Amino acid sequence: MHKDLSMKQIAKDVFQIPLMPRDSINCYLIDDVLIDAGIKSSYTKILNAVKGRKLNAHVITHAHADHQGSSKVICEKLGIPFWSSGAEKRQAETGNATSEYPFQNHIVTRFQRKYWAGDGFAISRVLKEGDEVGGFKVIETPGHSSGHISFYRERDGVLVVGDVILNMNLLTTWVALHEPPALFTTDQSKNKESINKLASLKPKVLCFGHGPVLINNGELEKFVRKINNKERTQKGERL
Ligand SMILES: [Zn+2]
Repeated sequence: MHKDLSMKQIAKDVFQIPLMPRDSINCYLIDDVLIDAGIKSSYTKILNAVKGRKLNAHVITHAHADHQGSSKVICEKLGIPFWSSGAEKRQAETGNATSEYPFQNHIVTRFQRKYWAGDGFAISRVLKEGDEVGGFKVIETPGHSSGHISFYRERDGVLVVGDVILNMNLLTTWVALHEPPALFTTDQSKNKESINKLASLKPKVLCFGHGPVLINNGELEKFVRKINNKERTQKGERL
């Protein structure tokens, strides 16, 4: 029997679209809105997955190369508008998707700029905290990038995390909760605040940009305790 792996239902009106093996890069469909669009070459997989559905908008959690790579092609092919937060607008429109990375000349940064980043596309709606998108509320979660946003649906606790937390070690692909790597993160301590903000929502289902979806049975709380303790110890050492 043919099993359609292009899209996986997570909850009512929520689908994961895995773009790379082991769920290492994902995008999501919430109702009629596509969240994130993988890398430059991801568009065929995305278009295949959403074939036959009526989409009305495409939004990005942030404008990094592995989230905006196919945004322009998707918006043009499906004739849908492109939305982002205000702080990501410039990168989303120029396609300068690695401009905030702390190490501009690092080989991985250069690789992503060349092979992953897609062209920019005009942003027609700027999202802010509390806005509603596809039945979800926008949560501002800056740190990994300056204008990162997440999406939360209170009624069943589904949270689209983006890259505030990863559920995968990007080098080994081993599944576990991680802070995003410093190499791609604008402000680690601000991101830690955003992790705490998301945890305070007590989400039940976590959908990550990188790594498999997690049905939370205390893993998130354990992870947050661990990183907060680590921070306290580091602060203590500095005193
Ligand atoms: Zn990112």
